[in-house]
Amino acid sequence: MSYETTWFSERRGYVRCRTIGHSWFDYDSTWTTTMGYPLTLRCERCGTERRDVIGAFGQLVTRHYHKPENYDLTPGEERLARSDFRLILLELRNEDRPPQARAI
Ligand SMILES: [Zn+2]
Repeated sequence: MSYETTWFSERRGYVRCRTIGHSWFDYDSTWTTTMGYPLTLRCERCGTERRDVIGAFGQLVTRHYHKPENYDLTPGEERLARSDFRLILLELRNEDRPPQARAI
C-alpha cells in the first residue's frame, strides 16, 4: 500500500460506518445531564458516541452524536451517496485480498 495521510487513513476507517451504519455497544461515558438519565452507545469501529437523555418514563428526551475528528465532511467536500460508499467499501475489501480472489 502506498503512503496515506493520517486524514485519509482515518477517513478509510469510517467507510464501513458510512456504508453499513455504526456498530453500537452500551458504554460508560463521563458526560452528565440535568434533564434525565444519560445513556451512551459507542461505535466499536469509529468511536462515535450516541448520547441519549432518557426521561423518567423511558422516553427519549434528547439525542446527540459526538463524532471523532475528521468524521464529518469539511465545507466544500463532495457529499457521497450510500451507493458510492458501497463501491468504496468493495474496493477496500478487494485491496485486502490476494489478487486472484479479487471480485472487481
Ligand atoms: Zn462507527
